[in-house]
Amino acid sequence: MSNMKNGPGRQINCSLCSKLIKEGAAFYIFEARFISGAGEVIADYPDPDKEITSALEALEKYSEQEVMDDVYTETTHILCPGCKRGLSAELQSRLAPQTKPTPKKRTSKKAKILPFQKNK
Ligand SMILES: [Zn+2]
Repeated sequence: MSNMKNGPGRQINCSLCSKLIKEGAAFYIFEARFISGAGEVIADYPDPDKEITSALEALEKYSEQEVMDDVYTETTHILCPGCKRGLSAELQSRLAPQTKPTPKKRTSKKAKILPFQKNK
């Protein structure tokens, strides 16, 4: 992050509007990560060896970077306060309904059993 310091002799611009962020002025660092969720599901294939072979053949079409980008990507941007507000509002309006993953059913056997309460 040392290249993002807004110190003397450094000129940084907003990644969205390109506005120069003056020395000492407020700015924001926006970091986004995309992490593949596909690894969480293990499918039950009838012939796993065949599936692995065809998956490896399919992967040969892509560069190592393309494959890695499918699994994990990370981007960092500098934003001026105005663009930070705009992007934040945009993300909230677009992502809000789906930000919380549906909770998984608890199957833990450690669940506490509450004592039966008799009505008096
Ligand atoms: Zn901006």
